[in-house]
Amino acid sequence: FELERLGVHESVEAVFPPAELAASLSHLPAEVAVIGDDEIAGCDAVVTLEHREAFLEVEWVHSIQAGVDRFPFDEFEDHDVILTNSTGIHDRTVGETVAGYLLMFARRLHDHVANQQERRWDRPEWDAAFTLPGSTACVVGTGTLGKGVAETLGGLGVRVTGVRRSGDPVPGFDEIYTTDRLLEAIADAEFVIVTVPLTDETHHLFDAEAFDAMRDDAYFVNVARGSVVDEPALIDALEADALAGAALDVFEAEPLPEDSPLWGMDEVIISPHCAAYTRDYFRDTGDIVRENVDRLADGAEFHNRVV
Ligand code: NAD
Repeated sequence: FELERLGVHESVEAVFPPAELAASLSHLPAEVAVIGDDEIAGCDAVVTLEHREAFLEVEWVHSIQAGVDRFPFDEFEDHDVILTNSTGIHDRTVGETVAGYLLMFARRLHDHVANQQERRWDRPEWDAAFTLPGSTACVVGTGTLGKGVAETLGGLGVRVTGVRRSGDPVPGFDEIYTTDRLLEAIADAEFVIVTVPLTDETHHLFDAEAFDAMRDDAYFVNVARGSVVDEPALIDALEADALAGAALDVFEAEPLPEDSPLWGMDEVIISPHCAAYTRDYFRDTGDIVRENVDRLADGAEFHNRVV
């Protein structure tokens, strides 16, 4: 198809100002504009966070997220709409966020932040704080996020194991388990970190049985998607002290409902689905879009094509 008009959908505003991305793409050989729902029809391509029914009438949709589980793949296929995603850019951001969670738990920083709100001078128990070297983190999913987490934690002296469908080694991982050995892989780890996409296969991959397999002193980290976890089972495990705690960026319902028991738990860190946020997000996304505009001109296959 011929790219004449590319729209930056206003829904990207949740992550960065749409005008920043539009300006960074202004040198493209196409008209680029920030658009609302009523201007989708006039575009050949759209860059977006959310899905809209009207996208089925354009030629190409680019998701600014890596996870595209909310887009209806079948309908895109039926309407010959190309869907691309932003996998490949979130290694360092999410890796550093996860390293931050682990350091907070190990060095008890979350306690200090909580105490500060109450103007309370309260030192940790003598045996509460620890250091990361010598501990093991099991990272489930060894793609962009998983590799970024492994690299960042490896730099902190953590031993990193990975779970993937094939047993082939991955740089940055000390040991790889195949998915059929998930329970064995997570059994010995002080930290279990989820970085798989949400698919039929990974829906509620972490259930009561998985939490039961984990050590009682282990921390669970989810930066993937909420529904990879059976959230009530996680809450039960935390309430029963069958886990030491959890750091959660994603939830089955977002925003996390005000009455969720997770909000009130001392050993739970909650972040509002922003593990990948960075002031450079629009640039990283723009690089993928520009690359694909070039490929379109060359008649080459799109980078990061999902449908
Ligand atoms: P990616 O495609 O680079 O990596 C995903 C990896 O998971 C691949 O290696 C794939 O083979 C593997 N995988 C798929 N199904 C699996 C299964 N059943 N068992 C084991 N491994 C499996 O994607 P990514 O950029 O690493 O992102 C991964 C997911 O993380 C996204 O789909 C998204 O849902 C989520 N994500 C969240 C944030 C956030 O802000 N919290 C940011 C980026 C991505």
